[in-house]
Amino acid sequence: MEENQYDVIIVGTGPAGSTAALYGQRLGLNTVVFGDTPGGITYMIENIMNFPGFLGGVPGTEFGVKLFQQAQTEGALFTMSRLKELNHHENAFTGTDDNGLMYTAPCAIIASGRVPKRLPVAHSEMKGINFCSVCDGPLFRGKNATLAVVGSDNAAGQHAMTLSRIADKVFLICRSQTLKMDAVHQQLIAAQDNIEILNGTEVTGYKGLDLVEALNVKTNEDETSEIPVDGVFLAIGWTPNTKMLAMSVDQNSGGYLQTDDKLMTSIPGLFAAGDVRDTDLWQVLTACADGARAVKNVADHIIANKS
Ligand SMILES: Cc1cc2nc3c(=O)[nH]c(=O)nc-3n(C[C@H](O)[C@H](O)[C@H](O)COP(=O)(O)OP(=O)(O)OC[C@H]3O[C@@H](n4cnc5c(N)ncnc54)[C@H](O)[C@@H]3O)c2cc1C
Repeated sequence: MEENQYDVIIVGTGPAGSTAALYGQRLGLNTVVFGDTPGGITYMIENIMNFPGFLGGVPGTEFGVKLFQQAQTEGALFTMSRLKELNHHENAFTGTDDNGLMYTAPCAIIASGRVPKRLPVAHSEMKGINFCSVCDGPLFRGKNATLAVVGSDNAAGQHAMTLSRIADKVFLICRSQTLKMDAVHQQLIAAQDNIEILNGTEVTGYKGLDLVEALNVKTNEDETSEIPVDGVFLAIGWTPNTKMLAMSVDQNSGGYLQTDDKLMTSIPGLFAAGDVRDTDLWQVLTACADGARAVKNVADHIIANKS
């Protein structure tokens, strides 16, 4: 096996990982970044409306790819492979990627984001269940489709907006009595005639043979019904991507990595940034800020621990 020595191993090519790579290189650190999707999950965002400096917004794909290219231009090595395992031994981290190549560094930053959850009902992996309206919404174009979005936060709002331009009708199904999205998203949705909000409604099952044909729903008043749909888009929560960690690291009850005020985890030299971190705002801006801060603290950590 080949072994490569770097100053910092970064896991994830999203806003957090790419920003960490960009700042790291500019701080003089030799960085290697694992991940196969330039821009991470930003490809799912039709238009990032809340990133400062972009009046009118910026398409997620454009933002993600440009950030990735910016870090690459600074000299960061993007392996374009995923990290299978990260080990910690005698003040060094060793990462093995899915090509079987090994990389070592005194520090590592976990910026691996999180993946959307599925509903805990039967046939949860049926065809027609989607997570990305930007990617999979166009499949329903020109089909007079009726679609459902399950969720109530900004991500659910983005899906509903995207799909309202493709489908005849979009149900936004929300278990709580009120939407949990910001005022801007609520206003955009209210202005869209073909979005119907079903508050206080829970999806209890999928109907269909191979492909989803209808949703079984139950209201807070225990009334049950069936909503015929051509497809469903889920935005009901997340699971942080931490499976590559071959060591025990402190996590909260949701599995998010806990960090101190320097973004260092319970393992000295191991930092976390972005959506994978136990934080209070999961956004592009905060992920970028986390990436910059984490790698700056990596640089300080390396200097402080040089013998
Ligand atoms: C539909 C939708 C709409 C959104 N809208 C907005 C918005 O308008 N404004 C906003 O600010 N935010 C928005 N967000 C949130 C925003 O996309 C995230 O907060 C942000 O992308 C987090 O960046 P990150 O780098 O932490 O993680 P990610 O972008 O998730 O990137 C992490 C990457 O690491 C990869 N990875 C995981 N495990 C490994 C491994 N073992 N090896 C290598 N790579 C790995 C993942 O596959 C992923 O590509 C939206 C999200 C969604 C889903």
